[in-house]
Amino acid sequence: MASGRTITIGGDITVPVVGQGTWRMGEDADDVPAEVRALRAGLDLGLTLIDTAEMYGEGGAERVVGEAVAGRRDDAVIVSKVYPHNAGQRSARRSCENSLRRLGTDHLDLYLLHWRGNIPLAETVEVMEDLLAEGKIRNWGVSNLDVDDMDELWSLPDGTRCATDQVLYHAASRGAELRLLPWCRAHDVPVMAYSPIAQAGRLRGDLLASPVINEIASGRGLTPAQVALAWVIRDSGVLAIPKAVQPEHVQQNAATLDVRLSDAEIAAIDDAFPPPNPDEPLDIV
Ligand code: NDP
Repeated sequence: MASGRTITIGGDITVPVVGQGTWRMGEDADDVPAEVRALRAGLDLGLTLIDTAEMYGEGGAERVVGEAVAGRRDDAVIVSKVYPHNAGQRSARRSCENSLRRLGTDHLDLYLLHWRGNIPLAETVEVMEDLLAEGKIRNWGVSNLDVDDMDELWSLPDGTRCATDQVLYHAASRGAELRLLPWCRAHDVPVMAYSPIAQAGRLRGDLLASPVINEIASGRGLTPAQVALAWVIRDSGVLAIPKAVQPEHVQQNAATLDVRLSDAEIAAIDDAFPPPNPDEPLDIV
């Protein structure tokens, strides 16, 4: 089971600071059984938050999640996301209902605007609040919004009811760190870090091949991915949602909940992957 490192989202959802992603799941029928097994194994290990989106596999990932939580809905905290072009009054309700049907549930624990599009934020907030009132969602939030967008959101009626901002964050991509993370801390908004192991090193500069990360890993009997993940969750206020299908990956990610990097290890990673300069914007996949 997961250790005691938890985070509270929206005031009423408390989950371990490592959850489970689902991007690329549900795209190939042959892979679905292994994907369902992986998510169930993660739930068994206490990785209760599952992140998905209507975009992933055009609904396929939500179906995989639905299969994984069948008969055990209360073990999971389900996060899904609406496409920006569907985040208006009528289309968001339809999107939400389609997500609920694919997931086989009557409510989402958290519903996020996937990224900012052309529909005014005010309209999205309004429809999110309507869905809340109808009991279809328990909380709502956003994704890929930088500080200027968050400021705008905070100026809107009910905008401060946003429960999270889900953003790209790993050691080789620290654009969130300079302004957004402090902003979220100051406004009590938990951050969900996506691609926390840089898609197994495929994003930006092969994080998992870094000599520093590998040295720390071998010194502690960890894998490089565990070190990368432990770095993301080193401070409170951040939850990471690695996606894993291979059983050993799920186990390693759960075990990372017990890993705390030392100040010296964090400093060594800082040296190898310096914090962003003031102009660096939030990165996006
Ligand atoms: P991740 O950083 O989670 O990397 C996933 C890759 O890492 C997979 O290839 C997986 O392999 C591998 N992996 C997982 N655990 C380990 C481990 N312990 N050791 C070695 N390799 C490992 O990338 P994602 O982009 O998938 O991000 C995670 C989640 O964040 C997504 O699935 C999605 O839910 C969300 N997301 C949100 C975005 C947004 O715009 N809001 C954008 C991108 C992602 P395998 O599967 O074979 O086990």
